Amino acid sequence: MNVDLRPYFDESASASFDFDVDAGLDVIPGRVTGSCMLSGVSGSVELTGQARYRLETVCARCLRRVSRDETAALHRYLTREESGGYDEAYVQVESDLLDLDAFILEEVVLALPAVILCKPDCKGLCPVCGKDRNETACGCAAPGDPRWDALDGI
Ligand SMILES: [Zn+2]
Ligand SMILES: [Zn+2]
Repeated sequence: MNVDLRPYFDESASASFDFDVDAGLDVIPGRVTGSCMLSGVSGSVELTGQARYRLETVCARCLRRVSRDETAALHRYLTREESGGYDEAYVQVESDLLDLDAFILEEVVLALPAVILCKPDCKGLCPVCGKDRNETACGCAAPGDPRWDALDGI
């Protein structure tokens, strides 16, 4: 969906939009849906909203399947000119026609955490025996543990 940004830049208009984008990504195989609001504010267009999607991946620590619904908050200021200084809330747009679906999808991908875990306190796999430490305490010494120094000398 292309949105003409001129009324927002030039007349401080505001309006809300629903979106429903087929993401087709490994981590987001389904759709990204939600709504956002565009409001012109002194030379920029404020975009706020929420995007919902289903995350499908594996836990970075224990490799268990992660499949859960996520919500991403959207909040950016679109500008025609490069904003002074570095502020990641500001995004310069190349034209007054915004491809809203592509923009939302990019925002959602940027907001994905770098490391996705099945749960915040996932204990992960044992680097020594490979057992899932969420299920069993295998009792192996972790690498870097002083108990290994003695073995190194053998
Ligand atoms: Zn995990
Ligand atoms: Zn172990």
